[in-house]
Amino acid sequence: MKIAILSRNKKLYSTRRLQEAAIARGHEVDIIDTLHCYMDISSNKPSVRFKGEPLPKYDAIIPRIGASVTFYGTAVVRQFEMMGSFSVNESVAISRSRDKLRSMQLLSRKGIGLPRTGFAHSPDNIKDLIANVGGAPVVIKLLEGTQGIGVVLADTNKAAESIVEAFMGIKANILVQEYIKEAGGADIRCFVVGGKVVAAMKRQGAPGEFRSNLHRGGSATLVKLTAVERATAVAAAGAMGLNVCGVDLLRSSHGPVVMEVNSSPGLEGIEAATSKDVANMIIEFIENKKAKPHSTKTRG
Ligand code: ADP
Ligand code: GLU
Repeated sequence: MKIAILSRNKKLYSTRRLQEAAIARGHEVDIIDTLHCYMDISSNKPSVRFKGEPLPKYDAIIPRIGASVTFYGTAVVRQFEMMGSFSVNESVAISRSRDKLRSMQLLSRKGIGLPRTGFAHSPDNIKDLIANVGGAPVVIKLLEGTQGIGVVLADTNKAAESIVEAFMGIKANILVQEYIKEAGGADIRCFVVGGKVVAAMKRQGAPGEFRSNLHRGGSATLVKLTAVERATAVAAAGAMGLNVCGVDLLRSSHGPVVMEVNSSPGLEGIEAATSKDVANMIIEFIENKKAKPHSTKTRG
């Protein structure tokens, strides 16, 4: 097959691993910088151009779209879809996953375990917003945050109210969530490929840190999932319509709760922690999908 990896940087671990795995399985691979693609939208023959040339028709594309380039990146993916290429994750599913509110609403509609969460733009009753998720301690998150930045733990209702007020004062979109203390500063990253969890790791925050992000000094180890955790991760990927994704769970006293579903999950942490060849599994998934293309789903 002819495969394109859409990535801003060919030196990134995940990009390199996907390229290696595809070549090892006998495919031809181009790595294309998403932001340097441009498109002819008006013609009835959709094309993507790159450095003055039209790109060939790829059998499959692997989008690695960073959060900061979602808008343009998903437009490029959509254009490849219009050309008839199979995208590992559909453009619409990637956009959906980047909107935390929309994602949580979709997951909740499917009955998937979630932390008690309140969303607000400008509540007239901040006390009620906090009380509704069970009161302090609560976690307050900036919707636009990534890598754990903009995630704050408030120990008392007073502190929570002040933080919510401060964020509202700068017109930031926030969510207020029950604090899952029993998770002990750890979360579980489930790597889902084609409706199966193919690898899972536990990320533990640095001592004294409730956020488990590797960027915040956390460390990752192999973890054995329970059947319920596995089913939750698979259901979350399905609800989002993502073939390849990272589902982040917290182990709460009321069962696994989904915190986030990431549509461009990194390979480095998960391959190191589990010694699994996740890149190879993604390429294998593409081969199977191309062999039975009818099972692709689209949701709004
Ligand atoms: P980001 O998307 O910026 O990584 P997250 O929402 O994933 O933000 O939060 C970062 C980390 O903080 C999580 O990985 C988890 O360890 C911790 N965390 C987030 N929400 C909660 C919560 N409600 N209860 C306990 N820990 C949480
Ligand atoms: N590099 C990110 C982290 O260490 C992982 C990206 C992702 O898969 O969410 O948290």
